[in-house]
Amino acid sequence: MDSRINYRYINAFLSGLIKHNDPLLVEMREYAESRHIPIVVPESARFLETICSISKPGKILEIGTAIGYSSIIIAKALNSECIIDTIEIDADMASKAAFYIKKAGLDGVIHIINGEALDVLQCLTKPYDLIFVDAAKGRYPQFLPHCIRLINVNGILLSDNVLYGGLVAKHGSIEHKHRTIANRLREYIEELFAMDNFITSVVPIGDGIAISYRKV
Ligand code: SAM
Repeated sequence: MDSRINYRYINAFLSGLIKHNDPLLVEMREYAESRHIPIVVPESARFLETICSISKPGKILEIGTAIGYSSIIIAKALNSECIIDTIEIDADMASKAAFYIKKAGLDGVIHIINGEALDVLQCLTKPYDLIFVDAAKGRYPQFLPHCIRLINVNGILLSDNVLYGGLVAKHGSIEHKHRTIANRLREYIEELFAMDNFITSVVPIGDGIAISYRKV
């Protein structure tokens, strides 16, 4: 399944606008692509950088580290003036992320928590200014109560892949292997839109990113 919802030529145009001149980030993208490790697509990475540059979050939580690419993007966008806690279930992935984060000189900025997100979330009590959800898509509805509990007023919740290759918006029957995730993501988006103390918009770049701002 294509994990980008726009026509190929639109994706190519949007990602072509972004210049990749950071050698470490180029190396990481090549590493991820060669091993089929999903990391944020360039236009979504740029969206993350843009939101961080506007809102300047001091405390950030990421659910889904992979090799640390998006964490490093965020830290660099904020000139390292932040603390990022990032949760990753896979020990090998967490150790590769630790390698790249050290190489980027960001090991005092980005803290990897190796564990199952739900278990970790239950133990977190300190609030965050920005939460980026980018892990198991079928678990988003379970992550949500914790994200709501942990996000500061004026904080931003970003949720990646919410359109799931377009299947979330599709009418009619969805292939069995994708149905549960598509239904859960639809439920998740509807919940985001129903929350009175948040304002949410879905931006149809990459695989769809929901941006939810906590008003009160
Ligand atoms: N945010 C990363 C980036 O753009 O550089 C990409 C994250 S990748 C899409 C999703 C990651 O979430 C995978 O590395 C996967 O092992 C991890 N993951 C999946 N389910 C998880 C869970 N329940 N708890 C913690 N991590 C999980």
